[in-house]
Amino acid sequence: MLDSLNPVSSCKKYGVSAWQCPQFLFVVMGIIIICAIVITYFLAIFRIGNPAVVSLLVLGVGAFLLIMNFVITNSFERMAEASKLKSEFIHIVSHQLRAPLTNIKFSLDFLVSTKMTQTREQQQEYYDILRENSARMGELIDNLLTVAKIESGSFPLSKTEVSLENIAQKLVQEFKPFATASNIKLMFFSADHSLKVSADFLWIEQVMENLLDNAIKYTKGGGEVIVKIYQKKRRVFYEVQDSGVGIPKKEQTFIFEKFFRSDNSFKKQTGGTGLGLHIAKKVIERMGGEIGFSSKENKGSTFWFNLPVKKN
Ligand code: ADP
Repeated sequence: MLDSLNPVSSCKKYGVSAWQCPQFLFVVMGIIIICAIVITYFLAIFRIGNPAVVSLLVLGVGAFLLIMNFVITNSFERMAEASKLKSEFIHIVSHQLRAPLTNIKFSLDFLVSTKMTQTREQQQEYYDILRENSARMGELIDNLLTVAKIESGSFPLSKTEVSLENIAQKLVQEFKPFATASNIKLMFFSADHSLKVSADFLWIEQVMENLLDNAIKYTKGGGEVIVKIYQKKRRVFYEVQDSGVGIPKKEQTFIFEKFFRSDNSFKKQTGGTGLGLHIAKKVIERMGGEIGFSSKENKGSTFWFNLPVKKN
């Protein structure tokens, strides 16, 4: 909230020069308005003299300039936002779609050109690459469609009584092989087996899966991931703690933004779209919950969300 009032960080977010940045223009226009009001006041005092007319004139000029300021900076803000989204979209499409597409093309070329000489193992290896990369492209497209749905407001939720513990237990079982393959000890704790929340099952499962998937993905080279379900002040918490790469402090404010991927994720060469946490935040907030995290670079992160306890 306070960050949105800071023109410097807002301008950085849009990645445009100061003179194209709505927040900076708002400050400049504000100064111009104050100067214009003072000048109008003095001109009116010396030319007109009547205090009532002077006040009305100054008020009129002030109000007119204020409305103009609002309209201009608002249009600039929309343009800056659209331009940011466009470059993010181009970036994501060029990087995230191009890489799997290139892998698919390479594998197909190999399978076709060496049809006579390849062994069964070689064939299997290239079929796996084809499967993995088409799944990556599918995931990106699904995420883009989800974001579009959320933004257009066509985002229906069908709430039922849900046990976060049951979902977490199932996910931990499913992710065990992935964790073991990455040399990660995956643990699960639940304090109270009767906790229930009111949530849309499919959406909440997707959010829980995303937080767990991230924890394992960004703990490359071995470590620990601990999943917990517990209650605090009439809220049920789902928490995933990892001993992974962590998120640099300067990047932490952007973590729930669309398409944002920390430098760490690129360094670790992980695939991803930077949309999962953005979707998670929207989903949790729509269900009346809160989401957050704490993180230390090279030490690890803890991501959590909570939802109100469902009363029986
Ligand atoms: P993706 O993982 O597909 O890139 P997300 O929206 O799920 O997208 O995450 C956004 C970014 O937040 C990631 O790219 C990564 O840089 C950072 N991140 C998320 N979870 C973790 C974590 N547990 N540890 C370190 N960084 C994380």
